[in-house]
Amino acid sequence: MPERPALAPLSSGRAYRVDSPPESALVTGELATELSRVLERFARDAAFSERHPIRLFFKPGVVGHHRVGRAADLYAVDGRGLDCWKQRWDESVGRATRAASAEEREAIMNKERAENLGWRLYKTLQVHGRWARPDGYPIQLFGPWTRTEGPWRLISDRLLHAHRDHLHVAR
Ligand SMILES: [Zn+2]
Repeated sequence: MPERPALAPLSSGRAYRVDSPPESALVTGELATELSRVLERFARDAAFSERHPIRLFFKPGVVGHHRVGRAADLYAVDGRGLDCWKQRWDESVGRATRAASAEEREAIMNKERAENLGWRLYKTLQVHGRWARPDGYPIQLFGPWTRTEGPWRLISDRLLHAHRDHLHVAR
């Protein structure tokens, strides 16, 4: 049997609070370090703090990197599911598309980018996180925005559908 790294529940940070059961995100020390760094940054950037931490909710995964604690699945931000954040995003994109002017279109999307915490979390994970990239596989960051925002825009319909309601990262 190969030796397995020790796993521990991902703990709350200063500006974010993990409010899922501890067994929902049992991760390696390496993943915990990377995740907590990026989550703290996301929370601060979105104006959360020790006094007002943002709530994050994980659920356990079963396939691939999850089996060895190298992956985590985030399902809700600030009490709202990632599928709801994505639906809200799509509605704004729809309104922007129908907008009468470029200025109006820009205003709608600027507001959405500022207020949509699901999208903001995804972008922070994408821009500031260092995730696994196994040989022959894409960067291990998947979520409802992967096709439109990257990093792996060629994500299959099947994999995109599998991540319609959560963000997956592996390290
Ligand atoms: Zn996953």
